[in-house]
Amino acid sequence: MFDLSGKRVFVAGHRGMVGSAVVRRLAGENCEVLTAGRADLDLMDQAAVRGWMAREKPDVVVVAAAKVGGILANNTYPADFLYNNLMIEANLIEASHRVDVGKLLFLGSSCIYPKFAPQPITEDALLTGPLEPTNEWYAIAKIAGIKLCESYRVQYGSDYISGMPTNLYGPGDNYNLETSHVMPALIRKVHNAKQSGGTVEVWGTGTPRREFLHADDCADACVHLLKNYSAQEHVNIGFGSDVSILELTQLVMEVIGYDGEIVHDLSKPDGTPRKLMDSTRLHNLGWKPKIALKDGIADAYSHFLQEIG
Ligand code: GDP
Repeated sequence: MFDLSGKRVFVAGHRGMVGSAVVRRLAGENCEVLTAGRADLDLMDQAAVRGWMAREKPDVVVVAAAKVGGILANNTYPADFLYNNLMIEANLIEASHRVDVGKLLFLGSSCIYPKFAPQPITEDALLTGPLEPTNEWYAIAKIAGIKLCESYRVQYGSDYISGMPTNLYGPGDNYNLETSHVMPALIRKVHNAKQSGGTVEVWGTGTPRREFLHADDCADACVHLLKNYSAQEHVNIGFGSDVSILELTQLVMEVIGYDGEIVHDLSKPDGTPRKLMDSTRLHNLGWKPKIALKDGIADAYSHFLQEIG
C-alpha cells in the first residue's frame, strides 16, 4: 500500500484526456498535484525534463503524456508516433530515476498486444505475435515504455509500474475526424447528422469489436494502482466487455436521439478485429469500473456540446 498523502505528484500530460482525468481524481486525495504546460516544459527535450524534475522534485510521477491518435493518424504520422513517444517516456523515466521518484505509473494502451492475441487479452500475451500494422509505431513505443519501467525496477529496485488502458473516451477527447478515435468521431458524426438530417458514416465494415472505458474510470484505476500495486508486470485497465462498431454507432445514435441511415466507408481500414482486455489482475486488486457505457456516452456528449459551445 503506497500512501499518496502529502506527496508531490507530477502528472505529465495533464491537458490530455487521461492526464486531466487523473488531475481531477487526485483532487480527492490529500496530495499536491504538479503540472507543466507545454510552453514551460518540452517533454521531448531531455535536458529540459531533467532540469524541471531536479527543481520540482516530485515524489510520484504519472506518465500520461503521449502523442496519441486514431487509426488514420497512426498510419499517416508513423515517425511522430514512434519517436515522440519514445522520447517522452525515456526522458520522464530516466529523470525520475535521477531525482529518486518513489513511485511512477507509466500508461500505455491495449494496442501493445499482438493483432491476433487470444481474447480477452491477458497481460502475458505481450510480445507473443505480430502487431496490428495500423498502430504498430505507437505500440512499439509503448512496449519500450513498459520495458523501461521493468528494467529500472530490476536494475535499481525502482517502484515503477505500468497500466494499459483500453480504448478511452470522455471529457477533453479529440473530436477532429481526421485524427480521432472512433468514439469521439461517432459522437461528432451523429451530432452533425442530427443537425442536417443526413446519414451517419462509419469507417470500415462495423464488425470490429472494441472495449470502451470512461476516462474518469481510468483515472480512478490509475490512483488505485498507485496505491495498491507494486510489481514488474503491467496491468490491463479495461471495462470488461466489448461492442461491435455498429452496435456502438447505434448506441451513440440512441443517446444523441437520432435514427437516420448508417452508411459504411469501406475505403477506411477496420484495424484489428477484436480488442477486449482481460482485466482480472486489476479486478483482483479490488477495482471495478463504475460508469456504464450508455451513461458514459451521455456524459461525453454533454462535454462535447460544451466544448463546441
Ligand atoms: P483502433 O481501436 O486502434 O483501431 O482505433 P480507432 O478508434 O480509430 O478505430 C476503431 C474502429 O472503429 C476501426 O475499426 C475503425 O475503422 C472504426 N471506425 C468507424 N468509424 C470511425 C471513425 O469515424 N473514426 C475512427 N477513428 N474509426 C472509425
